[in-house]
Amino acid sequence: MDCDVAILGCGPVGATLANQLGAAGLDVVVIERDARVFPLPRAIHFDGETMRVFQSLGLRAEVESISRPGTKGMHFVNAEDRVLMVRAGTAAEGPQGGANNHYFHQPELEVVLRAGLARYPNVRLLAGREATAVEADAAGVRIVLDDGLHGGIVTSVTNRPDAAGPTEVRARWLVGCDGGRSMVRRAIGSTNEDLGLHQPWLVFDAILERELDLPDYTVQRCDPARPMTMCCVTGQRRRWEIMLMPGDDPEAIARPENVWPLISRWVTPADARLERSAVYTFHSVIAHGWRRGRLLIAGDAAHQTPPFLGQGLCAGIRDCANLAWKLVRVARGTAPESLLDTYERERRPHVQAFIELAVRLGAVIQATDPAVAAERDARFLQGEAQVFEYPQPGLGPGLHAGGFGGVLFPQPRLPDGRRLDEALGNAYAVLGEAAAIDAADAATRERWRAAGAVVLRDPGEAVAAWWRARGLTAVVLRPDRYLLGAARDAHELASVSALMA
Ligand SMILES: Cc1cc2nc3c(=O)[nH]c(=O)nc-3n(C[C@H](O)[C@H](O)[C@H](O)COP(=O)(O)OP(=O)(O)OC[C@H]3O[C@@H](n4cnc5c(N)ncnc54)[C@H](O)[C@@H]3O)c2cc1C
Repeated sequence: MDCDVAILGCGPVGATLANQLGAAGLDVVVIERDARVFPLPRAIHFDGETMRVFQSLGLRAEVESISRPGTKGMHFVNAEDRVLMVRAGTAAEGPQGGANNHYFHQPELEVVLRAGLARYPNVRLLAGREATAVEADAAGVRIVLDDGLHGGIVTSVTNRPDAAGPTEVRARWLVGCDGGRSMVRRAIGSTNEDLGLHQPWLVFDAILERELDLPDYTVQRCDPARPMTMCCVTGQRRRWEIMLMPGDDPEAIARPENVWPLISRWVTPADARLERSAVYTFHSVIAHGWRRGRLLIAGDAAHQTPPFLGQGLCAGIRDCANLAWKLVRVARGTAPESLLDTYERERRPHVQAFIELAVRLGAVIQATDPAVAAERDARFLQGEAQVFEYPQPGLGPGLHAGGFGGVLFPQPRLPDGRRLDEALGNAYAVLGEAAAIDAADAATRERWRAAGAVVLRDPGEAVAAWWRARGLTAVVLRPDRYLLGAARDAHELASVSALMA
């Protein structure tokens, strides 16, 4: 079976990338070991930028229908329930054109993303098939598949079902979205940088069967006797994440009879049904080498973070946003292969900022020495509880220029009420004061036309406020909505536009 791009792994990252490449018209084959969506408890939170990417897939309404906006933030409390630190929450529409935080059940999100693939006859999902070997040369990649005996091909979202199923896939490009134990990462020969945190936690979801007086926000209980996270997910679903202490047996602790006593202060078997439980080791690692020739990696294959910020999946979705438009242009021959080298350079420092903050928060939450915890509490309780936000790093060096290049542009509303990206689609965009746009020379206009850029003159006060506050008159956005650059005048607008891939 031949295709432009093979994607190994149909977790949330592989499914998102397949939707993006499918929408762009590439021939895509997605290979997934599991016949069905992975049912164990994992991500429950994503941020406003991630929702903006789901919007770009045309799936915003579907994702909204299985999630809820999180308006109350995350509270770090000590063993006496005194608030040490808060990640702010708000009910207001945030800079990304919706809530800043969303709560969801990962298997339901994965169903939505897989169903989205059925829109594209050019995307084929081979589910229940494991890749056993990958061979790459300068022209493409050969992926060897097992015989499919442990699940078979699921045809519900396969648009061109293949009764027998292929034994190999040949692709011009392979993107490994194949999770933490990625075989594509091994084939690339990447090294893993260890950012220092590795700790087993018990994770389980419970479905409440009657109303209980539990917090409707996330609580990080920094109790040195047993650090724990409590989350309100969606509907009646609640999540507990409980750190394993020395002497805990990882298999035994996940059994219901051992789980309930750990949370009896909040809920008992008379109040709720235990849905699933599993022990995970939280890691903090980042790969060096996200591309070698025709092989690339994204998502957990490229980086893993402890979930204290709820950002692992979000980082993988950002990888897709960064990679998809570049891969489309390179596969179509409208951009040089070297464009793909900007992917890791731009994304790695960005994701590293999130992982490093999660590791620092892990040190706050996971303090189990009573003396260390007491010193921590005294430090935090000196004044008001500290309020913190997610980091907002720009991209690392790559395809952008100037002080604002590589910064994420917000998604305000247009005067007609639409969100900005609804008017821009997934193309390059030039936004600015009418006078600045009208002053562009012929060569610059030709660049915009050749790149398929959408040009918006005077797009309304809510959008213009961003550049006016910075003394600028126009901005050029990449298809992933990060700034290619910003301009004060026609001359600067011409130089930024010259960068368009
Ligand atoms: C307890 C916990 C809580 C979390 N909470 C959050 C949170 O609140 N917010 C957040 O943003 N993130 C969170 N995360 C992280 C998030 O779940 C992951 O980052 C996300 O699932 C990664 O997606 P992925 O598609 O890269 O990898 P995966 O979801 O691991 O998918 C990889 C896929 O590749 C397939 N595959 C692998 N090898 C092969 C092969 N050889 N052949 C065929 N198929 C293959 C696998 O079957 C799998 O389906 C959490 C994680 C855990 C464990």
